[in-house]
Amino acid sequence: SRPAHCPPDVEQLGRSTWTFLHTTAAYYPTRPTPLQRANMLNLLHSLPTLYPCGHCGEHLGKEMKTNPPDVSGREGLGRWLCERHDEVNVRLGKERFGCGEERLRERWRDGPGDGSCD
Ligand code: FAD
Repeated sequence: SRPAHCPPDVEQLGRSTWTFLHTTAAYYPTRPTPLQRANMLNLLHSLPTLYPCGHCGEHLGKEMKTNPPDVSGREGLGRWLCERHDEVNVRLGKERFGCGEERLRERWRDGPGDGSCD
């Protein structure tokens, strides 16, 4: 991989962005206020035009038209985001992550039960 002082390439930018989005979803309230829902919608809707990888944003924009964001609560948002990420995974020839609630909670919030991330 490139030296750490280099500007991010598409892969690094993607890893950082997914980390931010999945972590934010993992801490999104189970019962968000109307303001929290509206702000999350704004955040997600801004990505297709602002994400600094043009074709990535375009793909996401199309995906979001057929699958509108679910900002109803932590579980729905986590699953929605995971499914969008899995669509990119499949398009890039990678394996699906699988969007079960427990798997997402372990990866992005609690860590594995063996305590290796505590
Ligand atoms: P990443 O895919 O970045 O994943 C990081 C970690 O997230 C993984 O190690 C895994 O633990 C976890 N993870 C994987 N899948 C899921 C999931 N479904 N749900 C929850 N957690 C998961 N790259 C392109 O080349 N072309 C594109 O069109 C493109 N579009 C993108 C659109 C968006 C909105 C974003 C944020 C990124 C996009 N990328 C695109 C970048 C691409 O998705 C990857 O981030 C990049 O290829 C690096 O991949 P990686 O294998 O290191 O892991």
